[in-house]
This record gives sequence, C-alpha cells and structure tokens, in this order.
Amino acid sequence: MSRTPIATTPISPSFTPSADVWYPDGTAILVAEGEAFRVYSGMLARQSPVFADMFALPQPPGSEDTTYEGCPVVYMADSASEMRIFLRILHDGRYAPCNTGSTSTSWSLTSHGLNLLRSDNHSMLHNLDPGSLPDLLRISTKYGVTYLRNLAIASLHYYFPLQVHRFSDMAQTRTEKMSIGQLFYLANVCRETQAVTLLVLVLCCCAHLELKYILYGVSPTAASFSFDRAPLSRIMPHSSLDPTSHEELDPANKRLVMHSRHHLCRLARLKTYHIVFFGPKHGDAICKDASAKLARRLLAGSPDDGFVSPFIGTAQADTMLSFCAKCKQEFRTCTEKGMAAAWETLPGIYEQGSWEKKLQLR
Ligand SMILES: [Zn+2]
Repeated sequence: MSRTPIATTPISPSFTPSADVWYPDGTAILVAEGEAFRVYSGMLARQSPVFADMFALPQPPGSEDTTYEGCPVVYMADSASEMRIFLRILHDGRYAPCNTGSTSTSWSLTSHGLNLLRSDNHSMLHNLDPGSLPDLLRISTKYGVTYLRNLAIASLHYYFPLQVHRFSDMAQTRTEKMSIGQLFYLANVCRETQAVTLLVLVLCCCAHLELKYILYGVSPTAASFSFDRAPLSRIMPHSSLDPTSHEELDPANKRLVMHSRHHLCRLARLKTYHIVFFGPKHGDAICKDASAKLARRLLAGSPDDGFVSPFIGTAQADTMLSFCAKCKQEFRTCTEKGMAAAWETLPGIYEQGSWEKKLQLR
C-alpha cells in the first residue's frame, strides 16, 4: 500500500494540539500543516484500509519527532482543514451516519462538522453547506472510506440533481451558495476522485459561465464576480480552497467545458427551443411577433459569446412570451420534450457515455 499520506520532513517542535480533535487517551498523533490530532488508531484502521496499512507499518526508532507521550506521530500531506472535518466525522458518533431504518436521511455540514438532520424534514436540506463537501469527497476517497465518499457525493447531488427540471430549478441556489472558484475546485476534485456522474453535472454548470472565467480561472482578490455573492468566509468555513488563491479548471476539464459549449448551444436551438423557429401555426400577429423575438434572442445568445443554455432559463423564456394560451401550451410541451431529449445526450458531450452507464458506475 502506498505511503504517500506520510510527509517526510518533520520539524520539532512542529505541531500544536488541535482544538477540535484531541483525545487525551488517543493512541496516535496525526499532524497536518502543524495542527496535531490525537486520535484512536484502531478506530481509524477499522474504517479506512489506508489508515490500517499505515498503522501496521513498523515504527521507526523513537525520537521527539516520531513519538509524543508514547504515541506515534505521523506527518500527513493533507491540509489541516481537510483532516479536521474528516477525523471529526470518523471519531464522533454525533457526526457519523447511522441507519435509522427510515427512507432517507439528510445531512448538514456546518462549521462544527457534519450534523445529522431529521430524515422527515426535507426542508433542512437547504442548510447543506457545499463549501466543505469537495474536501470531504477528496479525503474520504483518498483514505478509502467508502460510506463517507458516497455521503459526500449524495450531498453534492442536492446542488447538482440528476433530473433536468431539478437541475434547472437549482441554478439560482448554486449561484448563491458556490463561488466560481469553488465550482472549479469541485470539478477538479470530481475528476481526481472519479466521481463521474457528478463530474458531468458540474462541468455542465461550468460551461454556463462567462468565457473569461472558463479560460483564465478566477482570482478572488483581483476581481469581483456577479456569481460571487456570498462572502467567502461564510461559504467555505473549512474548505482547503484558499480564498486568496487563483482557481482554474484542470486542463482536461477545461478542454471538455470549452468543447461542450457549442454542443449545448446546438441542443438549445435544435432540441429545447426548436419550436420557436417554426413560429405559431395560426396567423395571429401577436404570437408571430413573440416567436420572432424569442428566435432573435436565441440566435444572438449571450452578449459574451452567443452561448444559449438548453437547460436553464426555459421558465423565463416561457414567461417572456406573449403567446396566446394555445401557443403557450404548445411551447411548453415542446420545450419540455426537447429539454429532456437534450439532457439524455449530456454524458456523451462530456465523454462519459450515457446516464444509464454512469449510474451503474456510481
Ligand atoms: Zn397563438
């Protein structure tokens, strides 16, 4: 098993006990970015094959760098924020998932960790903080804690639903809860951890951004963004994403997102809104005029570079139209059908086969 979690250059005295995870009778000390977590090695080994292998390694000869109060000290390459939330969840039953036998459970990540919410209160899902979830996905995957990886993915799917209508409905929430930098970070974590279904949905969101962000990334200190409405301190209390750092899609993600944009525009014009280009069946001038107006808008696309979404904004297009009742109904039926057909092709656009194939892989 790989020994990559262990960094090799301890500097003594090189750590400060964590205020969050420090059990006085713990049996091992993990140090990440100078923050030391005193933990129970048996408990961690039981949940993670990587920790099991790590603790099974023979201890090097004792020195003040490698033992503390009789506990082995292990220096980790992970960030302190990632380790903090990860170890809290693994140690503390209050944060751990439990099977209550109910049909669904919901989760909330707060600055204090992961809280189990009552399964019968679906509205509580709105309290999910997406800021820490990419970190949780990354670290649970790295240490082989499958149930936690699945939980992180399921929680992220709240913001990136698999159903096209819900995906469209959640657009505003995503914009409010996640900065562009966080979206890029999540896309890169999805690729790194092979969370492929989620990756398709996140890349689709990235493709809806202005071209300059996709091409050059974002530097939160250098510019303000319309997408960046929430203060960084609130939306990512424990994220290892540095709010002062530049965040950019990795090259493979960037290539796919750039490549997908013209596919998405084509889907918008040929599938979702194709009815608009045929005009109303009757000769009513108001309906003809409304249809022509929308057709012009669809051909022009965004002021930035002509992008048109096949999935987001169909409801707005609907309310914009001054069609007669019959035309409005026809418009709705056709766009719904077209949007569903376009959605089916989405995984293929991101080189991920079909939804069916993706769901099997999950
Ligand atoms: Zn009409």
